Amino acid sequence: MTAPRQTIGENTRRFLDRENHGLLIDGAVIPAANGAEIDVFDPSSGERLGRIAAGEAVDVDLAVKAARIAFEGEWSRWSPYQRQALLFKAYDLLERRFDELAEIESLDMGAPISRTRATKAGAQRMVQFFAAMALNIRGETLQNGLPGEVTTMTLRAPVGVIGGITPWNGSLTAIWWIAGAVMATGCTAVLKPAAEASLSVLHLIEMLHEIGLPKGVINVVTGHGASAGDALARHGDVDRIAFTGSTATGRRIIEASTTNIKRLQLELGGKSPDIVCADADLDRAVPGAAMGIFNNSGQICFAGSRIVVARSIAEEFTARLAEYTRGLRLGPSLDPDTQLGPLISQAQRDSVMAYVEAGRAEGAELVCGGEALSGPGWFVRPTVFGGVDMEMTIAREEIFGPVVSVIPFDDIDEAITIGNRTEYGLAGAVWSRDVSTALNVVEQIRSGTMWVNCYGLIDPITGFNGTKMSGYGAKGGLAHLDTYLYTKSVYIQR
Ligand code: NAD
Repeated sequence: MTAPRQTIGENTRRFLDRENHGLLIDGAVIPAANGAEIDVFDPSSGERLGRIAAGEAVDVDLAVKAARIAFEGEWSRWSPYQRQALLFKAYDLLERRFDELAEIESLDMGAPISRTRATKAGAQRMVQFFAAMALNIRGETLQNGLPGEVTTMTLRAPVGVIGGITPWNGSLTAIWWIAGAVMATGCTAVLKPAAEASLSVLHLIEMLHEIGLPKGVINVVTGHGASAGDALARHGDVDRIAFTGSTATGRRIIEASTTNIKRLQLELGGKSPDIVCADADLDRAVPGAAMGIFNNSGQICFAGSRIVVARSIAEEFTARLAEYTRGLRLGPSLDPDTQLGPLISQAQRDSVMAYVEAGRAEGAELVCGGEALSGPGWFVRPTVFGGVDMEMTIAREEIFGPVVSVIPFDDIDEAITIGNRTEYGLAGAVWSRDVSTALNVVEQIRSGTMWVNCYGLIDPITGFNGTKMSGYGAKGGLAHLDTYLYTKSVYIQR
């Protein structure tokens, strides 16, 4: 499926016409040292969109050096008000030019343009949050029991160079968790976006230089995870890694980070339960649960991929879910009417289809979907499986595609048990008109984020956390900033 290129704006076209997208190191766009490149594709058509540089250890080293020099240079003397003013300019930049970022992201990763455009408000909220946080870096003066006249206090200082390793499924807001924190605290960064979709990150960071981001403060090294990503995680002069991606890669990052005992923040995978009680308002729960999984074609870490529904309403709920799902419009990412775009790659489509086959083979009932569209592009119809039990592969493993398992329960304790039967602890939801039922579920599900009668809302002040094998390290709230700072204890003898 293709959409005409004339629908994109002039700046987007100019950016894409470059064809070869270099690394962004010390404010300059440069090729990888070995000249290697990676083809990137429009998942809606399977056509080549351009090439990104295949950075390796030597490029990572260059970027880390630039970030270290920036960290120790002029940037370290910027006042919090100057850093805040830069974030205000970033807000204004997003106000003026978000559309081109949305177009690039949609073309590069396949998310519908209506969706990427709608993330503008979220991205701006992130920038506003970090602009406020820039003035909220504070230590304490403390009492002490020391002999003599000693004043004790703590100072908060930026930890240094941050390695930001991120996935492909929604950089426009997610990248601000790192870029915003760096700009608020005075840290510097080397970003390593996913090879499948790096373009919106490259364009954003380039634009930030145009509004006054000093060179070297945020660098971007594109490339493969096993080379550029691993080199960043291993690098002896990177102080902290902020990683978002799969649990398997998270484990490798932990191992690589031992070189210099880096601080880590890991935001990993999920298999989130979406619990629909018998008293739920189905007019809200059906579309809410459907988009809780099918948004971004299921390529969201917190996707509600297990709908756990009261047996007394399971038949009606499943029928209505299937009807809603069949009505979702699949299409190319730039078509404004598209509700569901393609999957990121042929490999991802094949992986999702293997799960569909596993669902069938293990006896789940295929209610709707279950097929890949014959090209061009990498589309899979949104798929609902009914009568799923927790022994089945589709109920246990993260699919990262538009496939949902409907699992019936008899009483709320069973729903909670099913909800917790996962190694992950990222998110979950409950749909009920009864506030005490809802709060009981919220309290008992072991996950970092819970929604009641809604799905997927995230505000940076409240944050979005994970537990168990979904990772650790705060995302959002004052605690988020804390992880970009260290504490210095100060003793002053008078
Ligand atoms: P991935 O783990 O394959 O890749 C993530 C990033 O890590 C990419 O930049 C990749 O190049 C890099 N990488 C790969 N191998 C590496 C290595 N050995 N060392 C260093 N870096 C390496 O994940 P993905 O397929 O890009 O994204 C999907 C996964 O991300 C899913 O599991 C999803 O749940 C998770 N995710 C989690 C969150 C969250 O907030 N918890 C958000 C989005 C996505």
